[in-house]
Amino acid sequence: MEYIRSIEHKEVVHRCFRCGYCKFPRDYVDFNCPSYKVFGWDTYAPGGRMWLIRAWLKGEIETSDRFAEILYSCSACGNCQEHCPFPRFSNALLDVFEEVKAELVNDGKIPPPVRDYFKAISVNGNPYKLPREERGKWAQGIGLERYSGQEFLLYAGCVASYDEVGQKMARSVAKVLLSGGLSMGILAEEESCDGAEVKVLGETELFKELARENI
Ligand code: SF4
Ligand code: SF4
Repeated sequence: MEYIRSIEHKEVVHRCFRCGYCKFPRDYVDFNCPSYKVFGWDTYAPGGRMWLIRAWLKGEIETSDRFAEILYSCSACGNCQEHCPFPRFSNALLDVFEEVKAELVNDGKIPPPVRDYFKAISVNGNPYKLPREERGKWAQGIGLERYSGQEFLLYAGCVASYDEVGQKMARSVAKVLLSGGLSMGILAEEESCDGAEVKVLGETELFKELARENI
């Protein structure tokens, strides 16, 4: 249990009593935990997930593919953190889920699509498996240069770099900033994924590597 280090988080797991408020939106008209909405079993709801983690921490269930599948069905949307009525406890929910995923990565127990996602980012610096050399193409023709000591660095990210709609948005934002006289540059093919989702999915070492590359 290298990643579930925090005593506070271990204790937090035991405070969830499965009242279920966390899987609703504020007006209670519908369920708002995406994984619960898809699978319909309490195991996939935040409270059920916490009790599963509790049993796993106590050694009552094994680190299995099934356990990993359930943990990775959480999209880390944060609805449960917003709607659990116990503030001291709710603030830790997403951290607990992330720490358990980090433990699963450490044990090599990750669902194949998650493994492929990590591999794509590790090899290409983006989840789309597109070449690094194309990363700065979105900025061609608008007068935005590579970073060489300008006052600001504009970090684009994977969606703005590769996705068609994201590229249009990035170009629009850059044009507005440039028209205001801002001194800025981009990293182009030297930029990597920011690793936000990588961290949420528990691959802490890849996240650190991406951070180092970008820095
Ligand atoms: S996480 Fe909070 S709201 Fe959800 S079941 Fe547990 S105690 Fe209830
Ligand atoms: S963060 Fe996970 S458990 Fe919480 S509401 Fe979102 S999908 Fe459900």
